[in-house]
Amino acid sequence: MLGTLALSVGAAVGMEFWARWAHRALWHASLWDMHESHHLPRDGPFELNDVFAIVNAVPAMALLAFGFFNRGLVPGLCFGAVSTTAPSPSSIT
Ligand SMILES: [Zn+2]
Repeated sequence: MLGTLALSVGAAVGMEFWARWAHRALWHASLWDMHESHHLPRDGPFELNDVFAIVNAVPAMALLAFGFFNRGLVPGLCFGAVSTTAPSPSSIT
């Protein structure tokens, strides 16, 4: 349980640093054409920037599934690395 808590806190902190770096170095640089819609008044229910949510969701769901259906350190890390709310079924203690 302590391992799961440490992974959850580490994932939350790591995701914040990743988001800050990606926002500055990627989205406001080479991916600006897609990200710009996020900084403009919304013209409908969706914006082009929503593509980033889908792109990030695919590997996150794959890592969650791998961690959920397998046991061991690596699957536990995969599950904990993308989950900040659910406890890992893998036995990392
Ligand atoms: Zn931005």
